[in-house]
Amino acid sequence: MNLDQIKATITTVPDYPKPGIQFRDVTTLMQHDAAFKACIHHLAARFDDLKVDKVAGTEARGFVFGAPLAMALSVGFVPIRKANKLPRAVIRQEYELEYGKDMLELHRDAVQPGDRILLIDDLLATGGTMLATAALVRQLGGVVEDAGFVVDLPALGGRARLQEAGIRCHTLCQFE
Ligand code: IMP
Repeated sequence: MNLDQIKATITTVPDYPKPGIQFRDVTTLMQHDAAFKACIHHLAARFDDLKVDKVAGTEARGFVFGAPLAMALSVGFVPIRKANKLPRAVIRQEYELEYGKDMLELHRDAVQPGDRILLIDDLLATGGTMLATAALVRQLGGVVEDAGFVVDLPALGGRARLQEAGIRCHTLCQFE
């Protein structure tokens, strides 16, 4: 499947989670066997040359795309989780949401200094979630230069914010 065909499997849900928001629901892509496989294949083709040491995915949909991508690249997978889910010693990073704050955590031994880490999430909006993810990996000495997403919402400016932080964004499709 090409990128337009993959994009066509994503469902737009109007007024979710609140009036005026067009929510891009990637679960319909995940449940489409050919689209899901092609999506991982396209991501793996983009990242094969980078020679990363690990893929890190952000809870929860970053796990769904990040774990099979890690397998396709023959590297390990690191979960970045919401607060109080990881059982051993962690580092934490708070980040701003539209209303309020949230927290992400990473096991202290999941990244070694100098590890090249590829970051993955389903969707890039303002970039705040991915900046917090990158900050966690960098706190442990990990090298972050690239982030991959299935969907980009360019109107929300995430790509430029991440670029300022030294992170190149790779996305498979966009919704204006
Ligand atoms: P950001 O931090 O503003 O870039 O928002 C991206 C995060 O919010 C990602 O973890 C997404 O899973 C989630 N998100 C924001 N908008 C949508 C959407 O329309 N569909 C699916 N996830 C979304």
